Amino acid sequence: MPPDNPGPNSTDGSPRIAHVGIAVESLAAILPFFRDVLGMAEVPMSDSDGARIAAVQSGESLIEFLEPAAPDTPIGKYVAKRGAGIHHICVAVPDIEQTLETCRSAGIQLIDEAPRLGAEGKRIAFLHPKSTGGILVELTEQ
Ligand code: ZN
Repeated sequence: MPPDNPGPNSTDGSPRIAHVGIAVESLAAILPFFRDVLGMAEVPMSDSDGARIAAVQSGESLIEFLEPAAPDTPIGKYVAKRGAGIHHICVAVPDIEQTLETCRSAGIQLIDEAPRLGAEGKRIAFLHPKSTGGILVELTEQ
């Protein structure tokens, strides 16, 4: 698959990492390092969930940076409490509704009961970290 249109699966057929979401205090402080020093291509993103979002390409995956748009947003509260760092991991699945149903059947607590549009304009849903070992997991359909 070409990097600009990666399918849901990695080369071994298992769901690939679509992106890793990192909470940051300032996009302006972090982007020049990844984009200009490391030479990673910036990918246009739209803002979502009270966060300003930027991303850089890393192979078939993205590194997504989330800057709080305001202190009283989920990312604002996260950064205030825990500081900058890895916020969530996003896994690409072929059929998000089917994966949500599989998660539901397995007793995984869902944050999003139904898919909604995410920052890349794709259908996404978050799973509750209480059910996933403390790790916030996002599913995306591609
Ligand atoms: Zn994400």
